[in-house]
Amino acid sequence: MNKVSAFPYPIPEYGTEPYWQACNEERLVMQRCDSCNKFRWHPAPLCTHCGADGFSWQALSGRGKIFTWTVVTHPVHPAAFEKVPYVVVEVELEEQAGLRMLSNLVDADDDDITFDAKVMVAYVQHSNEQKLPVFRLLAS
Ligand SMILES: [Zn+2]
Repeated sequence: MNKVSAFPYPIPEYGTEPYWQACNEERLVMQRCDSCNKFRWHPAPLCTHCGADGFSWQALSGRGKIFTWTVVTHPVHPAAFEKVPYVVVEVELEEQAGLRMLSNLVDADDDDITFDAKVMVAYVQHSNEQKLPVFRLLAS
């Protein structure tokens, strides 16, 4: 087994299957509470805002802004040796204040990355056939 194919990949489980299936269709979805109508991230059986258990999966625009980021230069996994340096970004999605997800920022020069920079979701194919959401900078 080579190091690239050994890169960790998500295993859809515990109710996250709809999220990962939507990624393969290049759609960003999250659980939205039927009671308080707020999105939550990560997927969870109960609303993290009000504790209700009813929810539906709803599509998001994929647009957001950079809340914070870091440039990873040290490979934290043997399979990451060929990936460094790469950017880990926390994106606040436009649908709801405080709705943030971690991802990678791709195709960006370090000097162009700023707080509140507008980003848009994109998808990359992992070797296990699962598409993964990443973000790209939007022209300001
Ligand atoms: Zn709720």
